[in-house]
Amino acid sequence: MQAVDGVQVMSPAEATGRQGGGHLRILAGLAVGIVLGLAAHSLRGPDGNPGELVGRAVSVAEPVGRIFLRLMQMVVLPLVFSALFLAVVDVGDLRRLGRIGLTTLFFTALLSISAVLIGVGMVNLMQPGRAISGETRGVLTSKYKDKAGENVNRANSAKTLGQTLVDLLPENPIQEMAGAVDGSSKGNGMLAVMFFALLAGIAATMRPAETAVLTGTLRGVYEISMTVIGWALQLAPLGAGCLVFAVTAQMGTDILRALAVFVGVVIGGLLLHLLGVYSLVLTLFARQSPVNFFRRVSSAMFVAFSTSSSSATLSTSLKVAHDELKLAPETANFVLTVGATGNQNGTALFEGVVVLFLAQVFGVQLSISQQITVVLMSVLAGVGTAGVPGGSIPLIIVVLKSVGVPADGIAIVLGVDRILDMSRTLVNVVGDLVVAACVDARLRPAGSLQQHGH
Ligand code: ASP
Repeated sequence: MQAVDGVQVMSPAEATGRQGGGHLRILAGLAVGIVLGLAAHSLRGPDGNPGELVGRAVSVAEPVGRIFLRLMQMVVLPLVFSALFLAVVDVGDLRRLGRIGLTTLFFTALLSISAVLIGVGMVNLMQPGRAISGETRGVLTSKYKDKAGENVNRANSAKTLGQTLVDLLPENPIQEMAGAVDGSSKGNGMLAVMFFALLAGIAATMRPAETAVLTGTLRGVYEISMTVIGWALQLAPLGAGCLVFAVTAQMGTDILRALAVFVGVVIGGLLLHLLGVYSLVLTLFARQSPVNFFRRVSSAMFVAFSTSSSSATLSTSLKVAHDELKLAPETANFVLTVGATGNQNGTALFEGVVVLFLAQVFGVQLSISQQITVVLMSVLAGVGTAGVPGGSIPLIIVVLKSVGVPADGIAIVLGVDRILDMSRTLVNVVGDLVVAACVDARLRPAGSLQQHGH
C-alpha cells in the first residue's frame, strides 16, 4: 500500500491480490516446460521423428500456449491506441511531450548503437562463420530453402525510405489497425497506428472540454485491456511453460550443435548487453540498482522469452512499469508503447551479427565502410522491426542485399531462429523498460514522486 496525501491507496497488484511471487511462478512454469521439452526431445525415434506420446503432448501444449498468447495479442491494439492517446493527453503540454520524445530517442539511440557495436565486435573477434563447413552450409541452405524464399519475397516488397515516411500517415486508419495485427497492412502497420494515436491525442489536448467523453472512454478501454492482461498473467506459468515445451520438444539439437559458435556469439552478445550496458545505464541515468530492477521486471522478461513477441509483452511491461517500477504512468505509457515497435536492441544486435556471420560463411569481404553501413542499417532495422516472432528476418534480408551477401543464405540461421528470437525479445523488452526508467528519472514532474511510491 502507498500513501497518497495521507490516504492509503492499493496498487492494482494488491487490489487483485497478486502481489509478489508471480514472476517465480512463471519462472517455475518455464523451467518445467524446458525440462519436459528436453526430455520429450530425447525420446525421439532413430528417424528423428517425435514418438506418438511426444506428438500428442505437443498437440496439447501448443494450443494451450497459443490461448495464452492470444489473450495478450487480443488487447495489443486497444492498448497501443489508448495508452499512447492517454499518454499525450496526460502529459498535456506539448513542450513536455517533445522533451519526453527527445529523451526517449536519445536513450533508444544510445542503447541500440551499443547493442550493434557489441554484436559486430563479437563476430569480428570470434569469427563464427569460419566454423561452418561447406557441407553444413549446403545442407542448411537446402533444408530451409522454402522458408528463406518466403522471407526474401517479403523483403523484396520492402519500401523506399520516402514511402516509409509517407506511410507513417495512414490513409485508412481502420485498415491499418487490422493490418497491424494480422500483418496484411499496406502501410506501416503498428507505426501508422501509433502515429494516428499521437495525432489524435495532440488534437484532444487542444480541445479538452469537447473530447472529455472520448478521453474517459479510452481510459475505460485501457483499464479493460489491463484487467484482461491480469487474467492472462494468471495463466502465464502454464501458458509460458507450454510455449517453451513445444519449442524445446521439437528443437533440432543437431542444428544447434552445427551452429554452436554462432549461437554462442548471439547469446553472449545479448548477455553482455543485458547485464553490462543496461546495468551501467540504469546506474548512471536512472540511479537504480540493476539487481533490483531485473528482479522487478522479471515477469516481463519471462513473458517476452516465452512469446518471442514484444507486442504481445507490451501489456505485461506496462503492468510491471506501473506496479513494480512505479514509473509515472504517462511516461511509461508513451515510452513502452513506442518502444515495443521502435526500440529493439536485442534485434539490432542480432541483425548485425547475422549479416557479418553470413558474410564470413560466404567469404564476402566487407570493407570498413560496409561494416559501418551494416551497423547503421541494423540500428534502423531495430526501429522498423515488427514486435512479432521472426519480425526481423525480412529486414535482415534487406541489409544482406545492400552489402552483397546472398540473401537466401538466411536459410542457414532459420533453424535456430526461434531460440534466438526468444532471447533477443527478452533483451528488447528489458531495453524498453530501461529507457522508460531513465526517461522517468530524468523528467519526472516535481511533486509526482510520492504518488508513485518512490
Ligand atoms: N521477436 C522480436 C520481437 O518481437 C522481433 C525479432 O527480432 O524478430 O521483439
